[in-house]
Amino acid sequence: MKESCLKFSDFQIRLISVNTAVVGSGAAGYSAADHLYRQGQRDILMLSEARTAGTSRNTGSDKQTYYKLTLSGHSPDSVFEMAETLFEGQCVDGDLALCEAALSVQCFFRLVELGVPFPCNRYGEYVGYKTDHDPRQRATSIGPYTSRKMTEVLENSVKEKQIPFLDHMQVVAVLRDSDNVRGLLCLNTDSTGQQDRYCVICCRNVIYATGGPAGMYADSAYPPSQFGASGIAFEAGVHGRNLTEWQYGMASLRPRWNVSGSYMQVLPRFISTDQDGNHPSEFLTDFFATPEEMLSAVFLKGYQWPFDVRKAIGESSLIDLLVYRERSAGRRVFLDYRSNPADGRFRFEDLSEEAFQYLNKSGCCFGTPYERLCHMNMPAVEFYREHGVDLARETLEIAICAQHNNGGLAVDAWWQTDLPGFFAVGEAAGTHGVYRPGGAALNAGQVGSLRAAQYIAAYRTEMPEPDTTFEALVQKSLRPLHCLAESALTNKDAPSASSRYHEAAVRMSASAAALRNPEAIASCIKAVGEELSTLPVSVSAEESGLLWVFRLRDMLICQNVYLQAYLNYCSSDHRSRGSALYSDPRGNLPHPALPETFRFSLEDEDPSGNLIQETVYCDGECRFVWRTPHPVPEEDDFFENVWRSYRENRNII
Ligand SMILES: Cc1cc2nc3c(=O)[nH]c(=O)nc-3n(C[C@H](O)[C@H](O)[C@H](O)COP(=O)(O)OP(=O)(O)OC[C@H]3O[C@@H](n4cnc5c(N)ncnc54)[C@H](O)[C@@H]3O)c2cc1C
Repeated sequence: MKESCLKFSDFQIRLISVNTAVVGSGAAGYSAADHLYRQGQRDILMLSEARTAGTSRNTGSDKQTYYKLTLSGHSPDSVFEMAETLFEGQCVDGDLALCEAALSVQCFFRLVELGVPFPCNRYGEYVGYKTDHDPRQRATSIGPYTSRKMTEVLENSVKEKQIPFLDHMQVVAVLRDSDNVRGLLCLNTDSTGQQDRYCVICCRNVIYATGGPAGMYADSAYPPSQFGASGIAFEAGVHGRNLTEWQYGMASLRPRWNVSGSYMQVLPRFISTDQDGNHPSEFLTDFFATPEEMLSAVFLKGYQWPFDVRKAIGESSLIDLLVYRERSAGRRVFLDYRSNPADGRFRFEDLSEEAFQYLNKSGCCFGTPYERLCHMNMPAVEFYREHGVDLARETLEIAICAQHNNGGLAVDAWWQTDLPGFFAVGEAAGTHGVYRPGGAALNAGQVGSLRAAQYIAAYRTEMPEPDTTFEALVQKSLRPLHCLAESALTNKDAPSASSRYHEAAVRMSASAAALRNPEAIASCIKAVGEELSTLPVSVSAEESGLLWVFRLRDMLICQNVYLQAYLNYCSSDHRSRGSALYSDPRGNLPHPALPETFRFSLEDEDPSGNLIQETVYCDGECRFVWRTPHPVPEEDDFFENVWRSYRENRNII
């Protein structure tokens, strides 16, 4: 790594030249830096807008899941079969699925070696359990904070290797020439003025581990410190894939936490109020014939957590739609554990067989929802108490929240994007399709970072040159961004960039989340386009708030690309699937009392559904390509042949 300076306007900018810059300090970013070092590439720089920010370190769930090949018992499993499971999630490339299956064991055991306490039995078998969309029992967990522990052990491993780390560096632009990535423009979020405001990275490779574009949505289960940075990657010409595919589900707003598992199985009351908390209504009761029918659906939400449009008619996902409807009518929705739903006018024995058996076996057919939760899962009660919410005394505000983006930046089987030298790993990369087994996201982050590191160490080892063309590139890219910063600093009367950010996220949650209506999406695109074009004159910031100006810029680009992808999806006559309901006047209403926008038809009924949507963004407009997924490769791997080519190039081709 070399450091020097570069003149811009009338001040000097810090310039760092390095082989590979890894952006992001989540489980995927640390994993990438660690792998790269092990693969022999020592010229690495890690940077992050905030070392302790991001999803991996700050999120969790009842039992946060990691997915890998079966490693116990006599239940048969194979790499190919696991690849097929991933592939069956729809719109998944089979070569990527095969890599994620094949390397799941290596990546899992590395985490074990580094100190993640995944449980094994007395014979050393890593026993698993069945998660959603999993035909076997491939899932494992260390409890609510699996990804946090992963991040911590990977960070320790990186620290031991003394890999340089720049904190408080927000990437604000990706530099490229016509063929390759050339570097990054960063905002030093600790800056005191223009003399130390920017930092330029000149590099041969970027591993982009910036996580999901969480900031796009206000109703969010992501930790508040996660924003994402996919917008500026699209701006640099990196393609998007399966951008329409998200997971949305019920989560509490303060703190942000999925209300899955026991939180639903103990059958809380759902109430809505006006904005001031008055005029409470137990709104679910109007939509079910009996309290028992309603509560059986609530119970199922425990393990059918993400909104799944296939379960929207008469099944558990109707609950999500009803919560969504209340909120879009301007009401607030709360879970109340203090008293029983329907004034206690239900009999446990009359719940569905599944719900009754479960509650009966757990000894939970008694008392209030709070008492049942204490009996079934005391840590679940304590979690909220530690975060300032006493479920014995108060209600818990919820919404249908964005939780994970299955799509993202398009990558090949080495997790390289179509921009040579620019690799995307972790949630920033879109390797999943419509459905994915729970835990597959954490596995994909580990596998992708290994694949990118292998490729870089094999083929992209040169030191970059900050030559005159690079300097010209910096001048050209930085000029408009610097103007934007300077005008935000002088626009004293304009709204703050952070308030504009929040408003844009609220608009997105209201118009283009789990319920997608072409007219609402189109008007959202128009609003986002106007905001982008007037950005330089419409926001204000102090020096310490400039990070919001660039965050807002990234997020608006990102919203623009995602919204255009949603609109293209509906206008290409695709129907509802996964966690999104697209309004369709030809379809069915989930309930006769719901408004027409809830009418939908299922994509599953249409065999042309298994097509991947690729998005190319250029100057505000998107182009779309639809293609069939690559099949899972089935090569005739005769050992002697694999060995020969491995000796030549380690089969990194
Ligand atoms: C509530 C919840 C529960 C989940 N449960 C599961 C589960 O059970 N199993 C599973 O597999 N997955 C689960 N996930 C998903 C999984 O946790 C994430 O996909 C994963 O942790 C993402 O890791 P990452 O390293 O890619 O990104 P993150 O951990 O989000 O890290 C991104 C990093 O990039 C940095 N960054 C972002 N933008 C910039 C920028 N412009 N400049 C510099 N740095 C930047 C951030 O500060 C952060 O350090 C869950 C997610 C949520 C929200």
